[in-house]
Amino acid sequence: MNFDDLKLSDPIVRSLKDQKYDKPTPIQAEVIPAILNNSDVMAAAQTGTGKTAAFVLPILHKLSDPKNAFKGHQLRALIITPTRELAAQVNENVNTYSKYLGTRSTAVYGGARIHNQQLKLRKGVDVLVATPGRLLDLYNQKSVNFKNIEILVLDEADQMLDMGFIHDIKKIVGLLPERRQNLMFTATFSNSFRALAKELSERAIEISVTTDGETGANIEHYVHPVDKSRKAELLIELIETEGWSQALVFTRTKHGADRLQKQLDKVGIKAQAIHGNKTQNNRMKALEAFKNNKTKILVATDVAARGIDIKKMSQVINFDVPTVAKDYIHRIGRTGRGGDEGKAITLVSSDEFRLLKDIEKLLNQTLPRVEVAGFEPIEVVPSGDKKKKKNFNPRAGFNHRTRSKNRKG
Ligand code: AMP
Repeated sequence: MNFDDLKLSDPIVRSLKDQKYDKPTPIQAEVIPAILNNSDVMAAAQTGTGKTAAFVLPILHKLSDPKNAFKGHQLRALIITPTRELAAQVNENVNTYSKYLGTRSTAVYGGARIHNQQLKLRKGVDVLVATPGRLLDLYNQKSVNFKNIEILVLDEADQMLDMGFIHDIKKIVGLLPERRQNLMFTATFSNSFRALAKELSERAIEISVTTDGETGANIEHYVHPVDKSRKAELLIELIETEGWSQALVFTRTKHGADRLQKQLDKVGIKAQAIHGNKTQNNRMKALEAFKNNKTKILVATDVAARGIDIKKMSQVINFDVPTVAKDYIHRIGRTGRGGDEGKAITLVSSDEFRLLKDIEKLLNQTLPRVEVAGFEPIEVVPSGDKKKKKNFNPRAGFNHRTRSKNRKG
């Protein structure tokens, strides 16, 4: 499929040409026609799959369609996001894709002056990207009017639920016209997400690319069983033997991130850590250095890594297995972007087996275990699915791993 098949208007297609997008990503190919067809949609897709354009493009198409165009700038599409960073990022996307259209968009979020946001709203916008709290503040101050809203988007809805925004969201939804199109995006179809989605729409079409799309097809997942005490040593071995130009490494704790960064630095591998105890400025600098290839390894905690857009990360390493299975999907959403090949490598010690099982349940697949020669654990990590393991035929890429040199002799 290419963009012409989607029948988006010429000004939109021109903006995509400017971005040098060749063809729709899998989520775009499924979601765009559904939205253009006026369906309510609930879609599971994480950052990196092209999900933002999947809802922004058809929204822009609909708003600018001469058949139902409005005079002036009336607020007709509302996009709610969990964080300021995401609101700003989504708004940038709207601006990029509406470059050749007359539609106007703005983002409103906490931590920035409300007055400036009120001025922009007064001038009129067609699309508003907002975080829940600030949106309610603006509503209470009568700075925003919902009466013409036709389309509601909840972006990263599961994260909004995790962050405790459920009441704000319900309040906002209660203020919107009942006749509207509901578009709900989430990383995973959790029970709490499904409950919310059902409340918003009984007839939403379910679309998922988490298992056979970006995170399944083009990302190789595998697990290296290893004793906890030897994880850093194994990571160093992998960095040295696998020829990675860069890697993003996740640890569970801030302390763990700092410790690992020091261990890598000690053996001459340039690494930086980002986590909640670092200042915003510090984090931005570390991120810049990584993006500019000045550091080889970025060690991050889950919270610090949220919302960062790093392009073409070939491998993501879970130094610690995430305690919340969903975080695995968030983490590996950093690799295999835009259809590129990616690797999701998880170092698992025996005490983390339960957590690994939770992830495998969520992904509905058993991840292949690949022991690295010289690092076979003394404390064995169970295989998860004995039959599968027995029949498991290692893919070509795995074989050399077991041949890698044995550091301990
Ligand atoms: P998102 O999942 O919305 O965070 O998008 C991830 C990245 O993919 C962004 O940097 C987009 O610019 C890019 N992207 C979106 N759609 C396409 C496409 N059809 N082809 C190539 N890149 C895309």
